[in-house]
Amino acid sequence: MILRKRIEIEGIVQGVGFRPFVYTMAEHWGISGFVLNDSRGVVVEAEGALEALAGFLFAIRSNTPPLASISRFELSDLPPTGLPGFTIKQSDESAAAVAQVAPDSYVCDDCLTELFNPADRRYRYPFINCTHCGPRYSIITGIPYDRSKTTMGEFVMCSACQAEYDDPTSRRFHAQPNACPDCGPVLTLTDAHGESVKVDDPVATAIELLRDGNILAIKGLGGYHLAVDAENDTAVCELRKRKNRDEKPFALMSYSAEQVVEYARIEAEELPLLAAPERPIVLLPKKDGCCIAPSVAPRNRLFGVMLPGTPLHYLLLKDSFTSLVMTSGNVSDEPMIFEEDDALKQLGPIADYFLTHNRRIHIRTDDSIARFMSGKSVLLRRSRGYIPRALFLKKQMPTILATGAELKSTVCLTQGDRAFLSQHIGDLKNSEVFDSFKQTIAHLQQVLELTPQIVAHDLHPDFYSTRYAEQLTGVEKVAVQHHHAHLASCLADNNHDGEAIGIIFDGLGYGDDGRIWGGEFLVGGFDHFSRHGHLSNIEMPGGDAAVKEPLRMALSYLIRVYGDNLPSLALMERILPDDLALYRQMIAKGINSPLTSSCGRLFDGVAALVGLRDTVSFEGQAALELEQIADLEEEGCYPFNLWKDEGGFALGYPALISSIVDDLLSETPVPIISSRFHNTMAEVALSATRMIWNATGLETVALSGGVFQNRLLVEKTKYLLESDGFTVLTHSRVPTNDGGIALGQAVIAAHQVAKTRGESHV
Ligand code: ZN
Ligand code: ZN
Ligand code: FE
Repeated sequence: MILRKRIEIEGIVQGVGFRPFVYTMAEHWGISGFVLNDSRGVVVEAEGALEALAGFLFAIRSNTPPLASISRFELSDLPPTGLPGFTIKQSDESAAAVAQVAPDSYVCDDCLTELFNPADRRYRYPFINCTHCGPRYSIITGIPYDRSKTTMGEFVMCSACQAEYDDPTSRRFHAQPNACPDCGPVLTLTDAHGESVKVDDPVATAIELLRDGNILAIKGLGGYHLAVDAENDTAVCELRKRKNRDEKPFALMSYSAEQVVEYARIEAEELPLLAAPERPIVLLPKKDGCCIAPSVAPRNRLFGVMLPGTPLHYLLLKDSFTSLVMTSGNVSDEPMIFEEDDALKQLGPIADYFLTHNRRIHIRTDDSIARFMSGKSVLLRRSRGYIPRALFLKKQMPTILATGAELKSTVCLTQGDRAFLSQHIGDLKNSEVFDSFKQTIAHLQQVLELTPQIVAHDLHPDFYSTRYAEQLTGVEKVAVQHHHAHLASCLADNNHDGEAIGIIFDGLGYGDDGRIWGGEFLVGGFDHFSRHGHLSNIEMPGGDAAVKEPLRMALSYLIRVYGDNLPSLALMERILPDDLALYRQMIAKGINSPLTSSCGRLFDGVAALVGLRDTVSFEGQAALELEQIADLEEEGCYPFNLWKDEGGFALGYPALISSIVDDLLSETPVPIISSRFHNTMAEVALSATRMIWNATGLETVALSGGVFQNRLLVEKTKYLLESDGFTVLTHSRVPTNDGGIALGQAVIAAHQVAKTRGESHV
């Protein structure tokens, strides 16, 4: 029996070798018909005998090319035509809008084999790629995705490359960045002033320079990295000095997982994450006494490690280094540099040499960061490799722009059942970062062809993202409370539609009452929320200064609990008497000492209390160290009280803080104290959840907020809640920190607007 089927496929199916793949499968199964790209994805008409057709359909659904991902696959019947042969039809390029742009990707196995095959015409060519791999998002200047709308449009293909490009059976059929040494981009080595260094093999010379301890600026997929030999402590220290970066860990890159296991521990389940085409930086535990320079990640039990993301990285690392430091090419808090001129100006004073090339990066995308927690991979920074892949939502959304928060800024655009979360942008207080924020919005709107009707933003009136939203005209604006957005982001991450209990352990966010929230026990869904409880409000002496100096927070908790009779802790000796008097007065009189219910500040305060650190050079540093020092065997827990407060029930500090102080006075080891504190916070979450369950009967709990980047806390809290019968939702696709806020804002705005309009479609 001969049948003919029409197959409509949506998802990332354009520019990833999907049509040649369908063509090959049709040949294999003896299917006639055609395949073409249309505005929504790929359309196939396939005709053949029942069994062959079944085999063909199974193959194209399950055997897809590595970069493809199918979100919709729909079949319908057509009358057979009897026409022989299978063709790739000219596409209808008029409206390629909804079809998704693919993210930048690693080097596929086939290209890697060619890269190191002396007989191949692309032997050691740093820009080798095919439809299964290579640059995408970072080189796209417009749509439809076509060579002329990428930064590869400046290069004219040679006849050999063009033949591959035109051949439906080639792996490079319509591979837009296709290139070879005869026609494509070239690598150059320059000194710090941009003067070209004449050498036969820039890669070989770059390796020698790195071996000699030089700092190299290397152009990657989404921007420049600064590289040094990770085993050379002098070079790493020099890089720290020149980059003006105190202690924040540097990322590492190694040729393969075999090199990584020389210095870090990889669980079997973490390996696919490390080797994923997205090539995120994965946080892995250090091996004691390993070869890596101590200054790579001082006072940190973890390394951030990635495998090579480009052919150039492979060439640099093959048989040369166990690992290279590959840190973002920027100056302290500024955005990663991605343009030639900027690179020379800004990185010239840091780098000794530049290894660069003439394929322009159109939009900057920083490296992504992932960590394995409670059995799944969790993105702490969703950026290169993942952007602009859509996050699928359960319901239809209007076109919304959500402008996110302020630190770890990202933005989000929605259309239909898709949300497009942008790459990591950074801290908007930096003016260069704010420029990048505006460029990212413009670029995303362009490549996705979306014009927002609604703009969602944070409730905080002073966030740059709020001010940006407020000056837009002709759009409906929706202000969203920060921790409600965290909750909604976690619900959307898990495709959970209904209400849930939200345990939001966060840094700082503007509350409904104008206070600074951050340790919240909420109930809500996409269209509403209510605050059932929180951590007790506590003074932050000096406001922002207390964020940078956890010592001030420690003192604030001590004064709250002990009043005038402060215990004689080591901490007290580190505070000057004048400062002590000043902070006391600030707290007593409420001078420049805003109240906060932040959980991040509690972690900071405890870290300072136990003597881990009094000041931090980056957000979350003290809490991170507290987590890492914990003794994982310890199961003890401190007493705590939840009492009635104006904003629902509240966690009181006296029992908790005085127990920690007693432990310190009796010289209990800090790792034990840290573990007991973590256990206590998990118990606090459980008690709060039970109280809310009593009032609401809700059995689903969403954990969100920056503090839940803490693996120990996530795992303990999840375990306790699940043991008690609750269903626990945690983040995985979207960051739990403020990098995930924009998604939550967008879904909340969609529901609120629908509600006010009296619609029910979302
Ligand atoms: Zn490839
Ligand atoms: Zn060529
Ligand atoms: Fe937050």
